[in-house]
Amino acid sequence: KAKFSGKNKYLLFNEEMKIEFNEKINIENILRKAIKEEKLLIKYQPVVDVDTGKTIYFEALLRLENINISPAVFIPTAEESEIIIQIGKWVIAEVAGQIKKWKEKGLPVKPVAINISPKQFSDSKFIKYLVQTIKQNEIDPSLIELEITENVLLENKQETIERLNAIKKLGIKIALDDFGTGYSSLNYLTYMPIDKIKMDKSLKDKFIELDKIQIIDSMISIAHGLGLKVVAEGVEELEEYKRLKKGKCDYMQGYFFSKPVGKEEAEKILDYDYKSF
Ligand code: C2E
Ligand code: MG
Ligand code: MG
Ligand code: MG
Repeated sequence: KAKFSGKNKYLLFNEEMKIEFNEKINIENILRKAIKEEKLLIKYQPVVDVDTGKTIYFEALLRLENINISPAVFIPTAEESEIIIQIGKWVIAEVAGQIKKWKEKGLPVKPVAINISPKQFSDSKFIKYLVQTIKQNEIDPSLIELEITENVLLENKQETIERLNAIKKLGIKIALDDFGTGYSSLNYLTYMPIDKIKMDKSLKDKFIELDKIQIIDSMISIAHGLGLKVVAEGVEELEEYKRLKKGKCDYMQGYFFSKPVGKEEAEKILDYDYKSF
């Protein structure tokens, strides 16, 4: 089972690792092919403003045409190689282009939030590309938002904060995604220049299950105290919506309102009023 690989190096290479390795190669190949054949596409999921009942912005979620692999699976693989940079650029260009088209049609455009992986965020050309793409499409920078996770801080904390500040200065809003899944918690909020937190679905589900939703209420209250908006993710039931609303959650996203939809359908719900729900 143990293989000798070069000088002084023992590599344990068991069956499980072999399968994992093969899967990675496989996913990498699928991604490379999808990029080459232009089979990446974006689904848009509305985030609803609880006060107005309207879409406050969309989240762009990446899909592969005709291939049913979740980004939760292929993004981590892409992040282990340089593919994520290429994919990330495509997503930015696609979203900016879509907003431009909606604008040209005279539609009530909404901002679109793009998920940015840590590797992409720390890439030295990232901000330049972002600015350039926004300019090329002649859209207001505030129509693009970014979703990052606490993992962006792992590389170089000081530099990351400077970058976040530079992005904010451009008028681009930033959300801290997957909040409650990592080590972060409230400490990060005291020094990260962000506009909102996206409470992970698992966090909300956990406290609902434990019948301790008050903890979520308190977190929302702390976030508000720090001047941050709170988005609840993965809202599926009317009861959840009502309870989170009572706890003053600002925005909500989830199947209760809408699944991620294609661009044609997104166009139809740009100004949809969810109050009638
Ligand atoms: P995320 O950014 O936290 O996105 C939220 C995920 O929750 C999405 O999964 C969305 O489809 C799903 N979701 C939304 N509402 C509900 C609900 O009511 N119930 C349930 N069960 N799920 C809901 P998706 O689209 O599979 O994406 C998974 C993750 O992949 C994202 O998590 C994000 O981290 C990553 N991702 C997606 N698109 C991109 C991208 O363009 N770039 C990067 N770097 N990452 C991306
Ligand atoms: Mg996200
Ligand atoms: Mg999230
Ligand atoms: Mg997530």
